[in-house]
Amino acid sequence: MADKRDYYEVLGISKSASEDEIKKAYRKLAKQYHPDINKAPDAEAKFKEINEAYEVLSDPQKRATYDQFGHAGMDGFGQGGFSSGFGGMNMDDLGDIFSDFFGGMGGFSGFNFGGGSSSRRSGPIKGDNRYMSLEIDFLDAVHGVDKMINLTVDKVCTYCDGTGAATRSDIETCPTCRGSGRVVRQSRTPFGVVQQQSVCPDCQGKGKRVKKICPHCGGKGYNTVKEQVEVTIPAGISSGQQVRLAGYGERGENGGPNGDLYIEVRVRPHKYFTREGNNIHIRVPISAVDATLGTIVDVPTAYGDVELTIPAGTQPGQQLRLKGYGIKDLRTKNVGDQYVEVQIEIPKKLSREEKELYEKLANRKKESVFEKFKKTFK
Ligand SMILES: [Zn+2]
Ligand SMILES: [Zn+2]
Repeated sequence: MADKRDYYEVLGISKSASEDEIKKAYRKLAKQYHPDINKAPDAEAKFKEINEAYEVLSDPQKRATYDQFGHAGMDGFGQGGFSSGFGGMNMDDLGDIFSDFFGGMGGFSGFNFGGGSSSRRSGPIKGDNRYMSLEIDFLDAVHGVDKMINLTVDKVCTYCDGTGAATRSDIETCPTCRGSGRVVRQSRTPFGVVQQQSVCPDCQGKGKRVKKICPHCGGKGYNTVKEQVEVTIPAGISSGQQVRLAGYGERGENGGPNGDLYIEVRVRPHKYFTREGNNIHIRVPISAVDATLGTIVDVPTAYGDVELTIPAGTQPGQQLRLKGYGIKDLRTKNVGDQYVEVQIEIPKKLSREEKELYEKLANRKKESVFEKFKKTFK
């Protein structure tokens, strides 16, 4: 995965490229590297890479995930990555590209993508994605966490492989449409005979029928199962970011794969820590005396207590940095810092001894800060 090129780089576009720019860049490159046209040895690999990049960047959902997580977000959290090649491509895009190649509609002869528009509806369709949210603790977001969640998902029946038939020989070609999945109806109108094609009502366009149904799924081809799934939340995730669980979305149609499940993470606020980018902020109270004279304190961090020197003369609101005690960036893996904001606490009650000591300080023959300030007004 480390040697995988950045998708934006693959298409030679900027991170802010519009949908139109992405499409244009893709078409140009797809033409240039199509293995039927480009006979260079690496053309096919390039073509695959280009298609993969386009599949992600042309889909706003996938693009957002990629922008947040990089390649890790694309195939690190699920069972599978993206299908490469034409799997996820939109037929309209393909049509455009190949009509560009061969100068129009006649040019499709050499390619077979599973039919034209009429059978598109009966081909395998990937199921819809599902979305859920998951709340996690602040420190779990910093360190990453594995969470078990209960899901109800439709899984392809392993007994019949999704066919819904008891055995292979129980699958027969639909006699109504002779396997084409379509029926042609002719009707006479004042303008002559009109032919109308529609999906076969006996097989719903599948072209096949089942004589004896699978006893394990009741002929549905899938089973609805409850499953406990472990979700790996990567260290550094922040509220609103999503983790993908491939295959846990809605059921696909006509043998198509399930959609994916996107889990939006919500991070509970911490009592003391706050996050800004990859830095963690905390406010700690220090007495006026300690701030004046300087001291050493053990400051809580996400990684345990860390010794911090408060230098003499530290001012209220001053920020001290603990380098490397912040959050690891999901993409770059750079680690942020922790900023400690010093709050000076002025005592409201003094013991007699303390009061005497403060009075001693006050009576010293030294110009007060207020007197100095007043002089600047003259
Ligand atoms: Zn079955
Ligand atoms: Zn039929």
